[in-house]
Amino acid sequence: MSGRADLHLHTIHSDGTLSTQELVTRAKAAGLTTISITDHDSVDAIDAARQLGSELDVEIVPGMELSVSVADDDVHILAYFFDHTDKNLLDHLAFYQIERIKRAERIVGKLNSLNVPLRIDAVFEQAGTGSVGRPHIANALVEEGLADTYHEAFLKYIGFGKPAYERKIQVSPRAAIQMIAAAGGLSFIAHPGAGISDEVLTDLIKEGIDGIEVIHPSHSPEKIAYYKGIATEYFLLASGGSDFHGGRRNDHYVLGKYFITEEQVAMMRHRLDNARASGR
Ligand code: AMP
Ligand code: ZN
Ligand code: FE
Ligand code: FE
Repeated sequence: MSGRADLHLHTIHSDGTLSTQELVTRAKAAGLTTISITDHDSVDAIDAARQLGSELDVEIVPGMELSVSVADDDVHILAYFFDHTDKNLLDHLAFYQIERIKRAERIVGKLNSLNVPLRIDAVFEQAGTGSVGRPHIANALVEEGLADTYHEAFLKYIGFGKPAYERKIQVSPRAAIQMIAAAGGLSFIAHPGAGISDEVLTDLIKEGIDGIEVIHPSHSPEKIAYYKGIATEYFLLASGGSDFHGGRRNDHYVLGKYFITEEQVAMMRHRLDNARASGR
């Protein structure tokens, strides 16, 4: 069994720039055999991805990326193999999306009081019908000539600790992990190399996380080896992918370059089968 699996991708259903169909087509062309679309707080890409995936012979693993609160900051959790029609899960996602809209309005309010005349409609134009996030606000600031670059928007205004920063609603790691498990899925710590302390990592392991995203563009070879070691030590699964956003952050080159093996995906399925067999 050979093949390449990229389990971290975004579409216009959150802060990616490609439609589901464009992304699946590009994934196929990049040589990927299995993908998971992991939009922030959204499962809206999954059905269309499955439809085209079955035509193009690309396996689609249901996925999403959630944010949980640890101390003052956000940690991202990737979920896989869950039932994306689960009622409880869909209710929570609808709630998170409404909270994202309210938060975007609060951020725009803060920007306006800083004499940055961003219109909320410019943000909604960026987001379309997908989950609204700070990347849309950053792009709107650039489009409206209120920031020079995407990164400057974060550095000056909306990054963590900056004057227009606003938190998302707070969800505990335990609540997210339990919701994912109740919908039949597995949960992974996303890109831990991007600033997650060992203490937080240990806490998440205690809360029942199933695996760690080992392969990610932000991870150096040393970090990859480090997280592989932790996964082995704690009997955790290893995931990985490109976190491709369709070019929003000059990330055109990542697709097809960051992947795990089909054997690693099979290990995830195996872990789920065992859990189901033992009634967990
Ligand atoms: P949100 O879920 O709305 O809080 O947006 C989070 C996303 O914003 C992250 O996934 C990053 O892609 C992006 N982001 C957060 N902080 C920064 C930063 N300092 N510079 C650039 N992008 C950032
Ligand atoms: Zn994203
Ligand atoms: Fe993330
Ligand atoms: Fe992501």
